[in-house]
Amino acid sequence: MPLSPDQQAEIDSLRAQPRQTLRAVSEGMEAHLYKAVPVLDHGFVRVIDYMGDDAAICQAARVSYGRGTKSVQNDEGLIRYLMRHWHSTPFEMCEVKLHVKLPVFVARQWIRHRTANVNEYSARYSILDREFYIPQPDALAAQSVINNQGRGEALSGEEAARVLEWLKADAGRAYDHYEAMIGDTAPDGSAQAGLARELARMNLPANIYTQWYWKVDLHNLFHFLRLRADAHAQYEIRVYADAICEMVKDWVPAAYAAFEDYRMGGVTLSATGVACLRRMLAGEAVTQETSGMSKGEWREFGGGLGVSRLGDLVGSPLFRMPFARGRSR
Ligand SMILES: Cc1cc2nc3c(=O)[nH]c(=O)nc-3n(C[C@H](O)[C@H](O)[C@H](O)COP(=O)(O)OP(=O)(O)OC[C@H]3O[C@@H](n4cnc5c(N)ncnc54)[C@H](O)[C@@H]3O)c2cc1C
Repeated sequence: MPLSPDQQAEIDSLRAQPRQTLRAVSEGMEAHLYKAVPVLDHGFVRVIDYMGDDAAICQAARVSYGRGTKSVQNDEGLIRYLMRHWHSTPFEMCEVKLHVKLPVFVARQWIRHRTANVNEYSARYSILDREFYIPQPDALAAQSVINNQGRGEALSGEEAARVLEWLKADAGRAYDHYEAMIGDTAPDGSAQAGLARELARMNLPANIYTQWYWKVDLHNLFHFLRLRADAHAQYEIRVYADAICEMVKDWVPAAYAAFEDYRMGGVTLSATGVACLRRMLAGEAVTQETSGMSKGEWREFGGGLGVSRLGDLVGSPLFRMPFARGRSR
């Protein structure tokens, strides 16, 4: 259970007390405020607070006295311009504060994003809950044979059952010992001092859950999402990033649409890549061997453009367009 009934009641009571404000309000984000979106088996992500909206980005870009809005179309155009030209500081004027419950090994990846403010649940002060991330069968995958940093097909049969059993048993055993070490009663029933929590926690596995408040501005949040909502990110952090994307989409729809278009859906080409495209546009059949790219680069070059054989594009209607040929010179 990501949330206990008490925690849910607290959230419901907060949502039952609307307050009047003169500040900018995003109706889309108001709908998310405080609610926990379940992620993985015991985790969640929820919005605690936020500042700004699409108009605040435009207001900052124009350094205006009012809301900065000219018209919705005008604002969307400005936001797309800012995103396209990496004019990033107006996006930093919006902030969000999230409460996240996540396994420790996911937290280790997440904390690498230094441009955020974090306050984590203290396992020196408090006792950690007996909650461990145990992957669903389809997420219990084998090591990838083509990517050292990835996973392949899901394990099956006896191997899957054995791995799941070990994950559960090891976590349970470690937690039993954690509890026994911090308790004031020894296994034989006699009194004991009890090990300090700050020490006893060191035998807990990395799939135990932790929690933190995480505050970040929109520019750096987009950077986080670009890396962690990407297909190359580990599944267990990607599902959190995906959940946050849904919130950001409702919070700042125009900024999110520009982010999706230019960052998530866009492709960055190297100078070598641009040169190859130009040669192809001019009608030359370019192969990996003649491209000047390594096999990996060539694969990614084709992957980014959504084709596996770039040579297939030569002669396609796109490359017969006069402007394309003209630009290749
Ligand atoms: C698919 C994937 C695989 C990864 N694999 C590994 C791995 O094997 N090993 C590993 O250690 N990490 C790994 N990482 C983490 C990665 O190297 C980054 O640490 C992480 O993505 C955070 O990115 P960032 O530093 O750009 O973000 P942030 O810390 O949010 O920083 C944002 C930007 O601010 C600037 N900045 C922030 N702090 C500083 C600073 N102190 N000095 C200079 N500039 C700064 C930089 O321009 C930076 O890009 C991986 C990440 C991904 C997405």
